[in-house]
Amino acid sequence: MPDASETLVRAARAVVDGAERPASVRLRDGQVVDVGAIDADADGAEVVVLADDEVLLPGLVDTHVHVNEPGRTDWEGFASATRAAAAGGVTTIVDMPLNSVPPTTTVAALEAKRRVAADQAWVDVGFWGGAVPGNVGDLAPLHEAGVYGFKCFLLDSGVEEFPHLAPGELADAMAEVARIGSMMLVHAEDADEVGECAHGRAYAGFLGSRPDAAEERAIGLVLDTARRTGARAHVVHLSASGAVPALHAARAEGVDVSVETCPHYLHFDAATIADGATELKCCPPIRGAANRDALWQALADGDIDLVVTDHSPSTADLKHRDSGDFAEAWGGIASLQLGLPVVWTGARERGVPLAEVVRWMATAPARRVGLAGKGEIAVGADADLCVFAPDEEWVVDPAALHHKNPVTPYAGRTLTGTVRATWLRGRPVDVSGPPGGRLLRRGEPR
Ligand SMILES: [Zn+2]
Repeated sequence: MPDASETLVRAARAVVDGAERPASVRLRDGQVVDVGAIDADADGAEVVVLADDEVLLPGLVDTHVHVNEPGRTDWEGFASATRAAAAGGVTTIVDMPLNSVPPTTTVAALEAKRRVAADQAWVDVGFWGGAVPGNVGDLAPLHEAGVYGFKCFLLDSGVEEFPHLAPGELADAMAEVARIGSMMLVHAEDADEVGECAHGRAYAGFLGSRPDAAEERAIGLVLDTARRTGARAHVVHLSASGAVPALHAARAEGVDVSVETCPHYLHFDAATIADGATELKCCPPIRGAANRDALWQALADGDIDLVVTDHSPSTADLKHRDSGDFAEAWGGIASLQLGLPVVWTGARERGVPLAEVVRWMATAPARRVGLAGKGEIAVGADADLCVFAPDEEWVVDPAALHHKNPVTPYAGRTLTGTVRATWLRGRPVDVSGPPGGRLLRRGEPR
């Protein structure tokens, strides 16, 4: 319901137009209607003044979230995922087509997902479709039904109902994606370069089975296929920094490709992963410190476009923490509520301004995916805001997170930066109150 009254948010520090400055942001009917000087006349609006240690950010946009509902609701679900998002300053998520059952590979599956999400979204939710063998004919109808693009795998996805594409199938699907004007997201690891993971508690056994070459070779295929078909392509969760030069070169010659990395690749170092620490298993794997530094450099250079969580939770038992066997454990890291503090903690240590982090985690994902009105504080944008205290330190207690399963590799870590409030379309989100999020469709008028 539109709020007829106006609110004026005064912030000594606000991230506007890619930089930090004092501002007052006027909100009406769920949108930003003015961004003015901090002492702008209230003109009858309700005034909210941020504390001295707070910065006003646009609500974050996390375009890589596995909600897993319907079908694997014990892993996560729309209610828990969107509450976690709100608590983490995220006002828009885009849900991945797997590991729900059914996966989002048909319009019927998309509609089933929308039905369960409809009354339990505390933030806005968009959807990706899935490209699997045999469903090229479903891509155009899914596009028309409002998905923002399609996700595919080039090797075993980890769930049998979402099989991967062979190179020829990738080419066919990307040709169709080009024809309909959509985008193909690719999990880029090459099956031939990935070995059998050794059983046991040693992280090295897992890491060794998924070398940098697997990503580099698969990304080579994605770039070749994008070049031949003209499709827009996006490489999800880049871990291997060795693939950056090929991506850079392809872009320089005009291939329409973007790339994301994730908080865990920017935070952890393979050399310090303890035996049996299966909460850190994800695919592609977390690599060493030099690789991590190279990812930070690639972000700074603009060679990596965005940072999203790849929030991919499971139940605790599937992580096999008891045995600590990396071969048995589910590969996926839960971090939806923690993305901003994790990335900001690393950025701050490296002297990277908060406005840069906002670009990677809000503005760039919204623009690349085509989420109109999201990812920035600007006149006409949705009044989606995050009140962030960037200097406040805290220790992660998994039981205090809204994630359905209290399993996260950040347990006990000290992070810098807390989310004090999240606003969705002009109102503070209350995760104990009724849900106020909307289901978003590509091309829908705002
Ligand atoms: Zn994922």
